[in-house]
Amino acid sequence: MNLVSPLDKVKGIGAKTGEQFDLAGIHTVGDLIEFLPRNYEDFSHVTTIAGIKPGKATIKAHCEKIATRPVRRGLRITTATLTDDTGKLQAVWFNQPYRETQLKSGEDFYFSGEFEFNYNRYQLTNPSAEMVKDMPVQTDRILPVYRSIKGLKTTLVRKILAELRPLITMLPETLPADIIKSEKLMSRSDAVLAMHFPETMAEVQSARERLGFEELFQLLLASQLNRQENAKLTGWTIPFEQPVVADFVKRLPFALTGAQRRAAWEIIQDMERKTPMNRLLQGDVGSGKTVVAGLVACQVAHFGFQTAIMAPTEILASQHAETLSKLLQPLGITVGLLTGSVKGMARKTLYEQIANGSVQVVVGTHALIQETVKFHKLGFVVIDEQHRFGVKQRQLLLDKSEFMPHMLAMTATPIPRSLALTVYGELDISILNELPTGRKPIATKIWSPNSRAQLYEKVDAEITAGRQAYVICSLIEDNPENDIKSVQAEYVKLQNSIFKHRRIGLLHGKLKPADKDEVMQKFSRGEFDILVSTTVVEVGVDVPNATVIVIENADRFGLSQLHQLRGRVGRSVHQSYCYLINSISAKPSQRLREIEKSNDGFYLAEVDLKLRGPGEIYGRAQHGALNLQIATLADTKLIARAQKRAKVFAESGQNMLQYKQLATQVQYYQRLTTLN
Ligand code: ADP
Ligand code: MG
Repeated sequence: MNLVSPLDKVKGIGAKTGEQFDLAGIHTVGDLIEFLPRNYEDFSHVTTIAGIKPGKATIKAHCEKIATRPVRRGLRITTATLTDDTGKLQAVWFNQPYRETQLKSGEDFYFSGEFEFNYNRYQLTNPSAEMVKDMPVQTDRILPVYRSIKGLKTTLVRKILAELRPLITMLPETLPADIIKSEKLMSRSDAVLAMHFPETMAEVQSARERLGFEELFQLLLASQLNRQENAKLTGWTIPFEQPVVADFVKRLPFALTGAQRRAAWEIIQDMERKTPMNRLLQGDVGSGKTVVAGLVACQVAHFGFQTAIMAPTEILASQHAETLSKLLQPLGITVGLLTGSVKGMARKTLYEQIANGSVQVVVGTHALIQETVKFHKLGFVVIDEQHRFGVKQRQLLLDKSEFMPHMLAMTATPIPRSLALTVYGELDISILNELPTGRKPIATKIWSPNSRAQLYEKVDAEITAGRQAYVICSLIEDNPENDIKSVQAEYVKLQNSIFKHRRIGLLHGKLKPADKDEVMQKFSRGEFDILVSTTVVEVGVDVPNATVIVIENADRFGLSQLHQLRGRVGRSVHQSYCYLINSISAKPSQRLREIEKSNDGFYLAEVDLKLRGPGEIYGRAQHGALNLQIATLADTKLIARAQKRAKVFAESGQNMLQYKQLATQVQYYQRLTTLN
């Protein structure tokens, strides 16, 4: 038997078990060996009930009494009395009614959980339970927990892996020997062995470090190599034409910030080179990214090239088209809008105009990447709110040019530097770290759901002063299962009572695109005082006259999302306000307190990274594809180490092919992230 043997060769795997593994994508012995534990249960320190102390604890006991009762909708509590020779204690599970069936047998179990003071007494909260009988006979008592596979018990997975244990030593090394040595890493086979059969948690730690390093090294090496390849490409050279830019700037109704000037200049310089630009423009919400893209598009058009600007929503695309038309039309530059709702003849005409070059700036949604869209001479591609797009979509748009066009990705979700390295390793970065002059920090307050009356008075006062307000709810319709606010119910309520005298608009994702557009237009023109909306306004929407945003059930949103939503206000010289209304039952989370404290997107991104991990921070599409199993992008130290080694390796021109597995993985990452 070897690593490529099919699973049915393994003792203990019958046809049925084999099928379940197959469905989970595990086909060979090697696949199963690389199926690493998600976490561990530590049974190495078992205490008696009499000797238990607050904190993480494991006991060996059996269940004497167990019952489940519903507490309220969506919450069922299972309580059990556990006993051993020394005493009794209470265990509690939330929404795990299956514990009753599991524990009723009266068998001995290891229970592992948090022993804590709650509801006036000490109890073991949500403990895991492992039947003593099922425990491996060896002495090791740290048990791996695997991602659950339908139809397969964890105990069986453990047993089969114990069977395969000798084969783990056959795993080939994937990292260059000098890197292993200088980074003091475990060998690959030792690391995998330690992951499945650890003796101490410290061993797990070292194994994770090794495997995490490897993942990051591959990812970073891929972006280093992409960078090298990109540098070899030939793009369009677009020179700097000072008078054109000066004319654009002169016509703006405001002066550019220093940061906007710097970013624009960096972009313009990139375009003068032969190699295509690959740049990320990072700027906090409201920092004025759109106008930077507009400025560059203007000078690109002057040299006969087209610009394509892709935005994630129709609302945003049509808003950009309008903003840019205002800026560019007077200079004789035509701007077109291509979204799903442009249909029939109008669409056909637009296609022609894009193909013959008579439309110079094309703003659109995903519609832009369809095959039918052909450009005359695409020189500049802008991806707005780039974290909303996958790599694939970005690539499809770039493919629409004969030569590689210059690319500017824009994002209002600031990313900590460490993350930027991994995710955007091959991009140059410009930062807008300055808000337009006269902006006042948004006053943010957590508001109790019990004092809405006072809040509505404040909102009303703003409207009387000529301003506008957003009310954000997370649901579209009421759901009888919970008491979370919906836009439809809230709209009716506000319009019929508290804000009878005000004009209210309703916006959510299920409206037809044309209706969405109309509601947004009306709000934008000041024809609504209040916009009751779901998070469809989360990204990019720009109505500077709006100065209040009320976010219902604020505890349901992530930190970056709240920051984005809040960014809908504070876009003019007027003082703006953000009110975060907590759900009735929740206490203000750390998230809400952080956002109340700070207006700084970069700071909040760091906090978010610590609180929730990177998934939230950068696009899900990309995150999913990168598929890091072990490394977390929050591990900045490991990232820095891997980055250093990847750079040295790439620059040394070493032949990767001597490390076969490394090469395969790196090439996979390269394909995923490449821009060529
Ligand atoms: P974001 O960076 O969030 O995409 P926008 O590009 O939507 O920001 O700009 C936010 C608002 O600020 C817009 O109304 C825009 O016209 C305005 N704005 C942009 N730059 C400046 C500036 N230098 N001075 C004043 N207002 C500006
Ligand atoms: Mg924007």
